[in-house]
Amino acid sequence: MKILVIEDEPKIASAIKKGLEIKGYVVDSVLDGDSGYSYGLDQSYDLIVLDRMLPGKYDGVELCKSLRDEGVTTPIIMLTARGTIGDKVEGLNSGADDYLVKPFSFEELYARVRALLRRPKQSVGNIIKIADLSLDPITFQVIRNKRTIELTNKEFSLLEYMMHHPNQVLTKDMIISHVWNEESDILVNTIEVYIGYLRNKIDRPFPKLPKLIHTKRGFGYILKTDN
Ligand code: CA
Repeated sequence: MKILVIEDEPKIASAIKKGLEIKGYVVDSVLDGDSGYSYGLDQSYDLIVLDRMLPGKYDGVELCKSLRDEGVTTPIIMLTARGTIGDKVEGLNSGADDYLVKPFSFEELYARVRALLRRPKQSVGNIIKIADLSLDPITFQVIRNKRTIELTNKEFSLLEYMMHHPNQVLTKDMIISHVWNEESDILVNTIEVYIGYLRNKIDRPFPKLPKLIHTKRGFGYILKTDN
């Protein structure tokens, strides 16, 4: 899952980025509203953490409104030093999904990030299920047919992204932009390699069960239960 952090205080920005990265998210961070706007238009983010007071043309409220006006539906958590009811209402009216008053603990932010990320997905608690495959984004446990599957960090992120978008063709570009971050110089062949690793762990050990990872030749990959 990929998160955009728009926060002009470098210390706070880097603490949020590091904290979320430790939890396994891919994080891009920008320090002003103008870059926040251009990054925010990129729909590959699964969530945006947005500071309310920002230098530049856009403050947090303006930025949030502008993104919503452009049709961006990415969930947004707004951060602010001001915590009056009026401020909260203004933030939420601008299109933010949640509101967090500074100073906050990282654990609180993380709990809200998780809550927002799982909101529209079909899941029981935190666990995502497709057929007999389940993935727990909190404990990083992946189970198929009652057998625990050990995945590396990247394999886990790739599978998590695919399980959040079942029955959809995911192009290599989509996979790169969700699972790898802006800085990484990744080759499209790398995606094929990682899909291969996942198949070896998710499908090959279960020859009697339906295949889950399918190739749509010329387009990309689909996670689904039928052929
Ligand atoms: Ca600020």
